[in-house]
Amino acid sequence: QAKHKGKSAYAHFAPEMTEVSHERLQMESRMRRALELNEFELYFQPIVHTDSGRLASVEALLRWNNPAMGMVMPDRFIPLAEETGLIIPIGEWVLEEACRAAYSWREATGLDIGVAVNVSPRQFRDPGFTGTVMHALKNSGLPHNQLELEITERLILDNSIETAEILRQLDSAGIQLSVDDFGTGYSALSYLKSYPFDTLKIDKSFVQDVMKESDDASLVRAIINMAHSLGLKVIAEGVEEEAQTHFLKQEGCDLSQGYFYSRPLPADEFESWLRTNQRVVQA
Ligand code: C2E
Ligand code: MG
Ligand code: MG
Ligand code: MG
Repeated sequence: QAKHKGKSAYAHFAPEMTEVSHERLQMESRMRRALELNEFELYFQPIVHTDSGRLASVEALLRWNNPAMGMVMPDRFIPLAEETGLIIPIGEWVLEEACRAAYSWREATGLDIGVAVNVSPRQFRDPGFTGTVMHALKNSGLPHNQLELEITERLILDNSIETAEILRQLDSAGIQLSVDDFGTGYSALSYLKSYPFDTLKIDKSFVQDVMKESDDASLVRAIINMAHSLGLKVIAEGVEEEAQTHFLKQEGCDLSQGYFYSRPLPADEFESWLRTNQRVVQA
């Protein structure tokens, strides 16, 4: 009787909270089994040269196909994977899989198709991280300079000696490094000159309004010029319309990525995209 009372009193005070934590726990336990059950899948989105539209590289984007939840997008599960530490084995799987895929396209097409992999802060700070990266490269046979690691400003801004040291190790191993979602953090910018980055990815929130908001156009122009004067390449993310491609070409933005060129695709569809795209290029 007392037990029953206690339970309903709890339910009365915080029904949403218990629901949320139940959902979280359920997701966590599903996530713990997801690797063994082969529920993760990589999608691939082309990154093209802005001036020619030719393929430069491809970004690997994680998807989780769960029988009960359907296809779960990364924004919904990466934060929980980070909190629980599950991002470490999951991230390892992503690296292995992405390198293997890039190597197989290289074999099939003879083209140097680099692959970009997103790295979250918890994963980056794990002591085994560089070992995991080197293992994925060695295991796949992918040349080191065909792997690009995307790191967000949030991670870089911790300003730690460890972060600097890991970036230096990766850079000296020939791995490409990029700053993802550039412009969304409260960045001090000074890190750009002290860390060995190769590429800046301008966040899609700026790119999307480049034709509507003159402030966004000015920011994108300024970022491109700044990056170039620091010797960095620039990728515009979230390119959806042709008009944006004209603007980006005119401003000398090196590389572009977005639905205008292609949505992220499962491996087999990306391979067909690749064949079609190459025919276009060769014609
Ligand atoms: P991100 O690295 O900035 O990836 C770009 C996101 O923008 C992707 O969302 C992509 O599908 C989306 N996108 C691409 N082109 C367009 C466009 O033209 N318009 C719009 N509106 N969106 C576009 P997605 O796949 O949902 O991934 C979201 C975020 O999740 C990624 O942002 C990345 O931070 C994270 N993520 C994805 N895969 C992984 C992974 O394997 N590991 C880690 N740690 N994070 C990942
Ligand atoms: Mg990214
Ligand atoms: Mg470098
Ligand atoms: Mg981004």
